[in-house]
Amino acid sequence: MTSTEKYKKEIAAHLNASPKQISLYWKGRVGLYALLKAMGIGKGDEVILPAFTCVVVPNAILYLGATPVYVDISGDHLNTTFAHIKEKVTPNTRCILVQNTFGLSSEVDNIAAFAKDHSIYTIEDCTHGFGGSFNGKPNGTYCDAAFYSTQWNKPFSTGVGGFSLLNNHVLEKRLKEVNQELISPSLKQRKTLGMLIRGRKFMLYDSTYWPLLRLYRSWSKTGAVVGSSTITELETIDLPEGYFMASSTEQEKVGIQSLKSLHEFSKLRQKSGLIYNEFMRKHGQWNYPDSDLPNHSFLKYPVFVKDRMQFMQKAEKAKVRLGDWFLSPIHPVTENYQLWQLDPQQFPKAKFYSNHILNLPTDTKNAQKVLRFLLDNMDELISWEK
Ligand SMILES: *Cc1c(COP(=O)(O)O)cnc(C)c1O
Repeated sequence: MTSTEKYKKEIAAHLNASPKQISLYWKGRVGLYALLKAMGIGKGDEVILPAFTCVVVPNAILYLGATPVYVDISGDHLNTTFAHIKEKVTPNTRCILVQNTFGLSSEVDNIAAFAKDHSIYTIEDCTHGFGGSFNGKPNGTYCDAAFYSTQWNKPFSTGVGGFSLLNNHVLEKRLKEVNQELISPSLKQRKTLGMLIRGRKFMLYDSTYWPLLRLYRSWSKTGAVVGSSTITELETIDLPEGYFMASSTEQEKVGIQSLKSLHEFSKLRQKSGLIYNEFMRKHGQWNYPDSDLPNHSFLKYPVFVKDRMQFMQKAEKAKVRLGDWFLSPIHPVTENYQLWQLDPQQFPKAKFYSNHILNLPTDTKNAQKVLRFLLDNMDELISWEK
């Protein structure tokens, strides 16, 4: 069996799917682009998506000439709601994107059923939710298709990487044709990826996290390492050169190994997530409602702070591995929103939460250390009344 076949087989087993339903890509976003293209989405078509996502998501829509239609999130769980999505549907809606923010899926069964009734495609953004489930079924299995990321801080890692799951058999032939256009990564790209893969384990240590994060960000800007995004992706809506890239054998081999410890990490994440949630509720801070907890895989746990810079500095001193995702409704872009056809003023929840959000690590055996840090800095958190 080749590494491609083996990797697909291992992924499929986690999704109760067949390896034939899996396609592998250089990054998760490439999988999204391939799915949209296979769905025939293009000029004049509208794609509904959360106004609380990564810029690479609207990018994939815009590269195809389609129109992103944003939906505000709910303060209950930071996902879009079925009710708000329905309000945005027009005769031009061709696809609805549903995201597992931080590993939580919301109302995906109802959204998928509604879309099917209206001949609208659905894609689940499972970049945070691989390994988790919604009402007992693996994340990604409710919609026509789903895409996943194996970038270094996603549920399991291959440095950068991603794959898609296709549930709607009608699209099989078309996706196969689209995938034939994939280009192969160059030797240089594969080598620099190897560096990222080897360095990644140090990102899991409290002591090396902050200096490495800084180094990674400065290197990836210069192109010295394979970064999560290129300047073209962050500053323009033009399809970058070499974007539509296949996965490499390096990623496949590391993926097969990395998947072996997924179960252990998932258990750890859920345990920490529940500990944090209980703590936050006890202290009157933002927390998830009980009804969401069984569906949450807690890739990260969100906290909302008054002064983000100051809080990050304190966390670095205390050697707590804070993350900063969703610093804007289309992370990490913070200007020229009109390029992405977004007016943040129209999404007050997404705007507010992205102004104050940070996230706590859940892949830690020392959640108590994180709680002690929070307790020491309680007045830095935004207080909440539910
Ligand atoms: C990471 C991420 C992506 C993109 O995944 P890549 O593998 O980096 O392309 C898409 N959507 C969300 C919400 C993400 O966090």
